[in-house]
Amino acid sequence: MNTQTGEPSFRQSVDLMFTRAAALMDLPPGLEEKIRVCNSTYTVRFGVRLRGDIHTFTGYRSVHSEHTEPVKGGIRYAPSVNQDEVEALAALMTYKCALVEAPFGGSKGGLCIDPRHWDTDELEKITRRFAYELIKRDLIDPAQNVPAPDMGTGEREMAIIADQYARMHTTDINARACVTGKPIHAGGIHGRVEATGRGVQYALQEFFRHPEDVAKAGLSGTLEGKRVVVQGLGNVGYHAALFLSTEDGCKVTHVIEHDGAVENAGGIDIVALRDWIVRNGGVKDCPFGTYHEDGARVLEAECDILIPAAMEGVINMHNAAAIKAPLIIEAANGPVTAGADEILRNKGTVIIPDLYANAGGVTVSYFEWVKNLSHIRFGRMQRRQEESRHQLIVDELERISRDSSINWTLSPGFKDKYLKGAGELELVRSGLDDTMRAAYQSMREVWWSHDKVSDLRTAAFLVSIDRVAKSYTAKGI
Ligand code: NAD
Repeated sequence: MNTQTGEPSFRQSVDLMFTRAAALMDLPPGLEEKIRVCNSTYTVRFGVRLRGDIHTFTGYRSVHSEHTEPVKGGIRYAPSVNQDEVEALAALMTYKCALVEAPFGGSKGGLCIDPRHWDTDELEKITRRFAYELIKRDLIDPAQNVPAPDMGTGEREMAIIADQYARMHTTDINARACVTGKPIHAGGIHGRVEATGRGVQYALQEFFRHPEDVAKAGLSGTLEGKRVVVQGLGNVGYHAALFLSTEDGCKVTHVIEHDGAVENAGGIDIVALRDWIVRNGGVKDCPFGTYHEDGARVLEAECDILIPAAMEGVINMHNAAAIKAPLIIEAANGPVTAGADEILRNKGTVIIPDLYANAGGVTVSYFEWVKNLSHIRFGRMQRRQEESRHQLIVDELERISRDSSINWTLSPGFKDKYLKGAGELELVRSGLDDTMRAAYQSMREVWWSHDKVSDLRTAAFLVSIDRVAKSYTAKGI
């Protein structure tokens, strides 16, 4: 129980959602419990000499389920990190990977630290030491446990972790696969930084391909012109807001950040605002719209789509009834508490749940891991061959046109577009789009066919639990 809000803790909230779905299934006795519980959580306290003193840091690595290995899950840097949160996030990873058919169990890590408090060199020392502690216990390992970025971490920390692993395993040819979300020069993959936000965009595009689903939210038409509120303009929120506003015609009318919110009914320039935040540390005093000091209240603004992309528990029993958005897509993990979920469900709000909505990150992490294990960039073998086959067709069409009396030409731009073979970024986006479409369809099939399932979250859990259960049943526990 969270003593401040009187609501269940984050982990209890995830468990309640799990149990709600599992109650609709016919799992063998004991299996439900086995799937639900977190297998293990390792707590480490380590000291680093910084600024002339020894500072002690507390970190966690939690493994929720090893039904498939390696287990996978990000590492979060935030002062509020605690065991309950890490276990909740690890559980979500199990269900998320099962839903998008990424061959991983669920894990998560966290370090209690305010990254803004330390400079780059200090963060490197801290990250190296944390990585060392986890690596020596096989809690970072290409075959067993593969972290990725999460809140407060990014490419830089992942590159440090990969380097630390390589130093401790000098003959492991697959060392780079020990962590994903690395920069390209350190074995990363094109499209990973944007992947979670891109996945949110693909999820919404797929949702809007089904008019019956859109109607359940009381909406109609396409994404064009839809008013969007985004909370958190970090990695996930920024990319989701950017792609939706520049590629799908959405209007981002409100952005909520840690120091307040900015509102502009005409649509906010996301690149300019992000630039401002990076330079000034928040949205206060920015020239892109009206400033509101109470950011949390802005979650209640009139809009078509609400995208919480910052942190857990922001939509809770205190504000759920006041939320006006008919459609919420959970870009963050756990932004809606179990209590709020019930209130929103009862008033007909459609929620595209976290375990699906932000799975773009782990999906592209999966591609990166495969790239690292295969030691070759996607597209390297076939790109030019594909281009030369396309060239053959274009040459032949042009010859036919020349040699026959039919007078026609190819449309301007066609040749360039058609001839270009797919590089790594195009392949990653294609794989991500396919994954998000397939996972949505598996959820919606349950949503529409199961008479006791009235929401997408329960549908998502049903699909995931069933897959994890089958995996345990197949191999025996
Ligand atoms: P981030 O650190 O890049 O960004 C978080 C943003 O939220 C920051 O801009 C921060 O200032 C803002 N913020 C913090 N507190 C806030 C508050 N109270 N109100 C409004 N804004 C606030 O983190 P991220 O990687 O974008 O992760 C955000 C969420 O998405 C987390 O829940 C994370 O678990 C989830 N997620 C991230 C990834 C990924 O690939 N990074 C993948 C899946 C899920």
